[in-house]
Amino acid sequence: MLEAEKRFDPEEVIAEFEALTKDAKRVQVETLKKILEENSEAEYLKKWGLDGKTDPESYCSCVPLVTHKDLEPLIQQIADGSPHPILTVKPITTITLSSGTTQGKRKFVPFNDELTENTMQIYRTSYAFRNREFPIGNGKALSFIYGSKQFKTKGGLLAGTATTNVYRSEQFKKTMKDMQTPCCSPDEVIFGPDFQQSLYCHLLCGLIFRNEIQVISSTFAHSIVHSFRSFELVWEELCSDIKTGTLSARITDPTIRTAMAKMLKPDPELADKIHEKCSSLTNWYGLIEELFPNVKYIYGIMTGSMEPYLKKLRHYAGGIPLLSADYGSSEGWIGANVNPTRPPEMATFAVLPNIGYFEFIPLREIGSPESALVRVEPRPVGLTDVEVGEEYEVVVTSFAGLYRYRLGDVVKVVGFHNSTPELQFVCRRNLMPTINIDKNTEKDLQLSVEAAAKLLTAEKLEVVDFTSQVDLSSEPGHYVIFWEVSGDASDEILQDCCNCLDSTFVDAGYVSSRKVQAIGPLELKVLKKGSFQKILDHYVGLGSTLNQFKTPRCVGPVNQTVLNILCNNVVKSYISGAFG
Ligand code: AMP
Repeated sequence: MLEAEKRFDPEEVIAEFEALTKDAKRVQVETLKKILEENSEAEYLKKWGLDGKTDPESYCSCVPLVTHKDLEPLIQQIADGSPHPILTVKPITTITLSSGTTQGKRKFVPFNDELTENTMQIYRTSYAFRNREFPIGNGKALSFIYGSKQFKTKGGLLAGTATTNVYRSEQFKKTMKDMQTPCCSPDEVIFGPDFQQSLYCHLLCGLIFRNEIQVISSTFAHSIVHSFRSFELVWEELCSDIKTGTLSARITDPTIRTAMAKMLKPDPELADKIHEKCSSLTNWYGLIEELFPNVKYIYGIMTGSMEPYLKKLRHYAGGIPLLSADYGSSEGWIGANVNPTRPPEMATFAVLPNIGYFEFIPLREIGSPESALVRVEPRPVGLTDVEVGEEYEVVVTSFAGLYRYRLGDVVKVVGFHNSTPELQFVCRRNLMPTINIDKNTEKDLQLSVEAAAKLLTAEKLEVVDFTSQVDLSSEPGHYVIFWEVSGDASDEILQDCCNCLDSTFVDAGYVSSRKVQAIGPLELKVLKKGSFQKILDHYVGLGSTLNQFKTPRCVGPVNQTVLNILCNNVVKSYISGAFG
């Protein structure tokens, strides 16, 4: 068959990647040249007077570093249907909506076919390396993926999440087929109007094809954990559907019902087997392994804000390896995980030098203390000039009209693959608002929660999810940490957790401010069960999808709806006594 003949060869993909990364500096120069030449007539580039120059030095001296806020009015003009070549010469026909979970507001970002092609290149590259270590045969994937509602902007451009734009593309289906992991669920489930119904049917399809499932995946690991938490609640209903061959009445969408009717046949034997397996598990340990006997690995982004879900994922996985996926954003992809055997916490991303032009702002405070006071931001360095061990903020120039765009992510260079750096994701930059001279990041919060959550394990409990807020309503301001716990913990333990949270923030600014009470005692607020589900529902209601959902780790005053959900669901609160 024609299609089979055109299947890509993983070894060729690796050879191409090796060639690109051996000469990363030259590839970067060429990539920048290509982007600038293609868009030399774009109004934005003309404004900065490049006058046809495409070399990195001229580019960096003429074009300023920007954030999304700087570009927002221009992207809005594009969305409103301006006929001018504002950021790119080729018209932008699609707008991507970032999850907005970090800032509480969804961002519009330009999208085009090059970004889809970059996505496929990243997918193929990491798959090729993965397949060397964890080969799979012909089969299917249980992929918890969801298309978001798409809508038309004022100017008639299609708008949706980046993943939706990708899932709808023909290239995506072809690539998944080539990778021997077509999704086991029909399109009607992926693009269904209600994610709860889609989730239920993804699980049902997975069970129907249980012997063929080779990979369990989602964009972010949170979605896999969320799916199996849901499984715990609906498994008997799923078994009954399989036994009788009739779909549960909870699925009301007619298109999903029709699609599922084609797959669902009465199979009492399968239903009994699943029932038996689920009943024999202790606290659902090893659920994935039991349900899917031929699964080779679990795949999704497990780094950064996903790390807190790894413990639960390992619990469900039993002996199945967890493989962390690649690094990218709505704005574009950055790197592929070409070392799949590393544990997820240690995953690194080798930057693909031909998918964009990359710069890195050093974050180490350099120079004398006096110069630090002036707060001159260090100049960004090029892709091949980064240093191992250093942390940087990523700056992207993409094929979709972003020029020297600060992504807001902090990465650490941990090595090189040939001449391209291997990055570790550290956190989003400047995540927790400052009360005094404290400088805590999302990562600091995560470490502190991890340490405190250990105290719960004695009671066989866990933190389901967490977030935080800086409360400035009383003097001095203090941190509030919200926890949803899997069961009832004693006041004594929770008080210890609260003290532990406060005392494990290691940032010197925080510790010294706490000692002199320039920052008040940390408060731990315990939430009702299901509070984070409400937050997720809120984001999905805004048009976000489960795919890209990332629990906001610090909720600011602009995010009033989420703050209200949190405040209305507090059941207990504790004040730290850690600093006397
Ligand atoms: P979005 O804005 O919804 O497109 O999400 C993109 C953001 O998700 C990135 O800017 C990162 O902060 C985060 N992200 C993406 N890939 C990874 C990864 N592999 N590890 C950690 N965080 C990631």
